[in-house]
Amino acid sequence: MIPVYIPTALQRFVGQQETIRLSGATVKEVLDQLNGQYPELKKHLYTEEGRLRSFVNVFVNDEDIRHAQGLDTRVAAKDAITIVPSIAGGAESCGTTSKGGLSNEEVKRYSRHLIMPEVGMEGQKKIKAASVLLIGTGGLGSPLGLYLASAGVGRIGLVDFDVVDFTNLQRQVLFTTEDVGQPKIAVAKKRLQAINPHITIQTHEARLSSENAMGILKDYDIIIDGTDNFPTRYLVNDACVLLNKPNVYGSIFRFEGQASVFDASKGPCYRCLYPEPPPPGLVPSCAEGGVLGILPGIIGTIQATEAIKLILGGGEPLIGRLLLFNAMKMRFRELKLRKSPTCPICGPNRTITKLIDYEQFCGIAPAAPQAAAANDSGSLEITAEELKAALDAKKPVKVIDVREPHEYDICHLESATLIPLGQLPQRYKELNTADNLVLHCHKGVRSMRALEFLKTVGFTKVKSLKGGIEAWANKVEPDMPRY
Ligand code: ZN
Repeated sequence: MIPVYIPTALQRFVGQQETIRLSGATVKEVLDQLNGQYPELKKHLYTEEGRLRSFVNVFVNDEDIRHAQGLDTRVAAKDAITIVPSIAGGAESCGTTSKGGLSNEEVKRYSRHLIMPEVGMEGQKKIKAASVLLIGTGGLGSPLGLYLASAGVGRIGLVDFDVVDFTNLQRQVLFTTEDVGQPKIAVAKKRLQAINPHITIQTHEARLSSENAMGILKDYDIIIDGTDNFPTRYLVNDACVLLNKPNVYGSIFRFEGQASVFDASKGPCYRCLYPEPPPPGLVPSCAEGGVLGILPGIIGTIQATEAIKLILGGGEPLIGRLLLFNAMKMRFRELKLRKSPTCPICGPNRTITKLIDYEQFCGIAPAAPQAAAANDSGSLEITAEELKAALDAKKPVKVIDVREPHEYDICHLESATLIPLGQLPQRYKELNTADNLVLHCHKGVRSMRALEFLKTVGFTKVKSLKGGIEAWANKVEPDMPRY
């Protein structure tokens, strides 16, 4: 397939697309296909006699076809066709294009860039020609989207499948209270398009997977990882290495953040840094561990800066450097990263040549075999309704809250005893193995780990509250504050 680049002025005739991929052996064959699909465009490209209009120039790569064989110029898969309406004589019929690709409106909009020698007209045109994929439109994706759209990145892709939740609003600045319950991707597209109508926003409403990742990522110059889980991080890394694309990385936890640029052709990849994911549950997610609302604003803005630098091709990118940020100390540190000679995907003896099952790789395959074996159909867990019934019936049940004290302060079950998970190895002797214990945390992850620990020290009559105190609030005590 041969990409045909459509100038801004003509994009309205092709559904605002900037690039259309078509097949053909000559320029004429490719343009015939294009005109067949978009008859409105044809009127602007060809005269009624079927000749290319004089104010429309066609380039194959960087050569004007008038200096080659005209419409009979041969094209192959590695070539690209660019349609360039000339300024003289073409501006009026073709729209508003002038100043070599930026309209007057755009020149005004980007004037603070244009007067910087590091950007200038040439740089702004590169930004306009660039395509960037944001994976996730949450905490990191929000500032990324806002700044990249404002800066004029010509095509921004968004990948997300979630809806806006009240707990997102503390940091996901793309969204407003009104948006709660709406699909993130639709709200984000509308917001970004309102900021900058000169750019194209493409949406991919899907959970990124081994099946769809290559297809989605391949059409973008730069990939930005704004996800919050390990399987997706490894998936994004591997797909970027296989497609030879830069991966602008950022991660956040509580008040600390990391950022880097992984570009396996010039430096290390994410697997060079972290060959294996941590065991599931060891590193809590933001949902479990919390995150300072401003932190993704800082890290996301750093990622956006790196993306713009990659597009401009200037400065010193974060390739081979891991930037660490601590908001409490207000301190940045930098670590040197090296390409690992044993990296399974970018090293010389690579063992990974295609995408794998990342859920399994990260140890979170559905139905952990260990739990399934030790347990006849979920007898390790108790539902909120079952616990309520047992407490109401005054059955001898002892409820242990394994969350942190600051979480207990937000909400707790009346009869619960607080023993944070981290203190359990020192304090389990306060509990009696003869008692019926029910452990609970926020959403049911930490309490399962507490349960596994207690089993190893001889407790047998112990269950974990399925879905944690969140499920309890949902099903039993609707007035309880949620977090
Ligand atoms: Zn690597």
